[in-house]
Amino acid sequence: MRHSQKRGLASYAMAVEATLGRRFPEPPHPYRNEYERDRDRIIHSRAFRRLEDKTQVFTRRSSDHFRNRLTHTLEVAQISRTVALALGLNADLVEALALVHDVGHPPFGHVGEGALHRLMQSHGDSFDHNLHALRIVESFEQKYVEYPGLNLTFEVREGIIKHSRGYDPKLYPELGEYRLNDQPPLEAQLIDLADEIAYNCSDLDDGYESKLLTVPLIRKGSPLFNQIYSSVDRKYHDAIEKLKFNEALKRLMDTLVTDLIEATRQRIQRGRVRSVAHVRSRHDRLMTMSPRMARQNKRIKEFLYAKLYSHPKVRAERKLIVKHVDGLFRFFVNHPRRLPDSYRAQVERESVHRVVCDYIAGMTDHYLQDQYQKFLGK
Ligand code: MG
Repeated sequence: MRHSQKRGLASYAMAVEATLGRRFPEPPHPYRNEYERDRDRIIHSRAFRRLEDKTQVFTRRSSDHFRNRLTHTLEVAQISRTVALALGLNADLVEALALVHDVGHPPFGHVGEGALHRLMQSHGDSFDHNLHALRIVESFEQKYVEYPGLNLTFEVREGIIKHSRGYDPKLYPELGEYRLNDQPPLEAQLIDLADEIAYNCSDLDDGYESKLLTVPLIRKGSPLFNQIYSSVDRKYHDAIEKLKFNEALKRLMDTLVTDLIEATRQRIQRGRVRSVAHVRSRHDRLMTMSPRMARQNKRIKEFLYAKLYSHPKVRAERKLIVKHVDGLFRFFVNHPRRLPDSYRAQVERESVHRVVCDYIAGMTDHYLQDQYQKFLGK
């Protein structure tokens, strides 16, 4: 019996033996199960390594301590694993899903994503990081002689598509195999919430580190943080603010995660959910925080939007990033011969704007800036 899963899988968890398997069948591995192999393939992929040089919220210019998408991903994996083990979910599948959940993000976080999406819209198309992640693991990763992509199991590919949103089967007929009318297993439902808890807490932390956010400002913006900070302050009144802030943040994360575990457990019990089939057939997602905590979590998110993501300093940087993404996109669309060989070959099969979008989406922050300087720098 595995140490990590000593409490065993719950009946509503996704058992690895029940996997719908890989697109290209492979013999089993002697000592790793199929979800462990998926996790390992993700860790060894190029897209995963590139997360190290992709912005979460802050670029690295002003501090070495800010999260990037790789460290954010590790935090999501940690939170997801805790919740998975507490609820008896399949921790191997959860880990694979957490580690892959952000590989489809373009350089410079949501700013880069928004810029690419607008550029694609001007061609009557769109950019979606979940769909892009699927393209990465299905075809862009060229690593194995026997098949394109990483040849991941169905449940990991399904989780990539469905972890954060649903897709209308009428609008996405090409995704038909992913049972768009069904809910994904709990292991995939968990990722979006672990992601939200991770970034809400870490953005408060990075915001404080950057000095764009202060403790009084955060206390004013989040009643939950305020309540937690007050009790920390009562207990450790003479401690320095930074340590009291850290303690409050640690308790905040623990409060959100504990609520997610307890509220989900209750919903599973009340709904008498005993199988993955039951999880899939429900009209709603079972994995949720309690309504009260969901409201508190939303308050933090709204506070971060108002005070951090739209802070003039963050906005000024955003303008520059948009200029670089815009400039490079237009340059390559007008000069496809300047694309690297593999992408140039792709232009024969797909529209130029899609190929350029794929190329730019795969870039790291630094590579995008280097390319901008090379082709468009003065
Ligand atoms: Mg994320």
